[in-house]
Amino acid sequence: ATPVSYDYVIVGAGTSGLVIANRLSELSNVTVAVIEAGDSVYNNVNVSSTTGYGLAFGTEIDWAYQTTNQSFGGDVVQTMRAGKAIGGTSTINGMAYTRAEDIQIDAWEALGNAGWSWEVLFPYYKKSQQLQVPTEAQAAAGVTYDAADNGFNGPLKVGWNPALNVGDVHTVLNETYAALGVQWNEDVNSGRMVGYNRYPSHIDVALNVREDAGRAYYYPIANRTNLHLYPNTLAHRMTWDTTAQIPTANGVVVQAVNSTTPYTISANKEVILSAGALASPLLLELSGVGNPAILSKYNISTVVDLPTVGENLQDQTNTGLAIDTADNTSYSGTSDYVAYPTAADIFGSEITNISATVLAALPSYAATVAAASGNVTKASDLLSFFKIQHELIFSTTHPVPIAEVLLTPSGTAVDCEYWALLPFARGNIHITSATPGVPAAINPNYYMLDWDVTGQIQVAKFIREIFATAPFAGLLGTETKPGFDVVPQNATTAQWQAWNNGVYRSNFHPVATAAMMPKEVGGVVDTSLKVYGTANVRVIDASVLPFQVCGHLVSTLYAVAERAADLIKSEM
Ligand code: FAD
Repeated sequence: ATPVSYDYVIVGAGTSGLVIANRLSELSNVTVAVIEAGDSVYNNVNVSSTTGYGLAFGTEIDWAYQTTNQSFGGDVVQTMRAGKAIGGTSTINGMAYTRAEDIQIDAWEALGNAGWSWEVLFPYYKKSQQLQVPTEAQAAAGVTYDAADNGFNGPLKVGWNPALNVGDVHTVLNETYAALGVQWNEDVNSGRMVGYNRYPSHIDVALNVREDAGRAYYYPIANRTNLHLYPNTLAHRMTWDTTAQIPTANGVVVQAVNSTTPYTISANKEVILSAGALASPLLLELSGVGNPAILSKYNISTVVDLPTVGENLQDQTNTGLAIDTADNTSYSGTSDYVAYPTAADIFGSEITNISATVLAALPSYAATVAAASGNVTKASDLLSFFKIQHELIFSTTHPVPIAEVLLTPSGTAVDCEYWALLPFARGNIHITSATPGVPAAINPNYYMLDWDVTGQIQVAKFIREIFATAPFAGLLGTETKPGFDVVPQNATTAQWQAWNNGVYRSNFHPVATAAMMPKEVGGVVDTSLKVYGTANVRVIDASVLPFQVCGHLVSTLYAVAERAADLIKSEM
């Protein structure tokens, strides 16, 4: 192939990468290339269907990354799904649009990331968004929003599914949650997430198709002559300008899927890695940026000694409960009945004890997590992060939510997916070969710490309370998952854990593998998302979030990428 060169070369036409591609190519004097391993899924019904969650799993557009054996989590290997397509993981995800709690974005700033706060990010959430208002029937069935919290002119269409269940279940749930102390939240996207509500989705309501990153950010501008997307092309590694004093990337080695010959796409200004939290750190390592002890194992010479590349991996776990409806009542329509309770909501009178127990355990958690990374992450740094996280969870004045509880009445049952939002476990991801595309070692360390187990189990107990509380209880019959024969009402933690270990899965929210933090505390990128020790390499995707957030990730990733694009433009 002919050598080609662009000002900016972006790796990954996913959720974040397409925001950058769109915003940079707004400038007609700037040239942009985007390299994407997958293909267009514009006409793939597994993607466009607005009621087809899961249809794309296991197909050619699902990377289906495998973890290492999860020794704390039932000795099983978990699948971590991610999209391989123009649009990335936004083409296969659950389409939920929920942001974060304001104070947890402020915590990024408290970590030492000056300029990253809720106040700064909030306008970027709105900049990306184009809210389509609910129908009258949806409003009558509990859909509310606050116009001041939403954007109406952005590229990303957000709204409520035309198939939304508009029956009276909402009223029943609203009363039930209120009885449990979980109040109606008018708009979950205001920065205050706690409560019960019916969240919006990434959807083009008029066309009734999924609004993925391709439809929002790429296809409408795909004909710009200064933007070139390379589909079906795997990025191997960056190339470096050997004459530069500070390591300066000058291109990306790529290979088209139908070819055996790699070639280089040159970058005159910058390389931007947007390959996702389970791919961008690997591209850094394959390019010689990382832990020399790992790089040397595979004969990769160290360009930048940055040992925390791939560390700090944080994910959540997802488990499901199910219960029959009374008298086989049948439900139809999509649901999106979501509750975000606080730790106090789910632990009740135990909350003070639990808070103190977890606080006392933080030094040992920090030591355990540090040891699991071979002390590449430092216990003293982790302890300071964990104190911030503890305060977010257990604050008596403004706690963040601690769980997402998603109820789906369908057919003659009510399914309930749930996940504890803020485990303390951290793991890592590293290459296992110098050959691009070889599966990595991915270890999220699910359930490594007591809190991670206790939290997930306590949410399940809370859901049993929801099932048993009027008026919802009146609609319900017998619990089928796990069922009281499998996990009795007064089950011990060990009994709950034994069941949970056999049924849980990844919640598919990996973050922080190239965390934005000061270098002294183990950061990989600085506040302009530039990789420490490099002149012109940025990471812009879920890898840079330093902490897990309580909302689903995409809205926050769009906001981060929108802001990052402005930062890049301000440096031009
Ligand atoms: P991605 O969108 O994954 O983009 C990375 C891109 O890089 C991909 O297109 C990939 O193919 C490409 N790539 C990777 N390696 C290479 C390489 N070497 N060369 C070339 N290209 C490469 N979030 C929500 O907000 N709401 C939800 O309801 C929701 N549900 C989810 C359900 C599932 C099943 C999953 C998996 C995730 C879900 N998430 C949800 C999370 C969210 O979708 C992701 O966190 C987000 O899309 C990640 O965006 P990203 O920009 O970090 O990476």
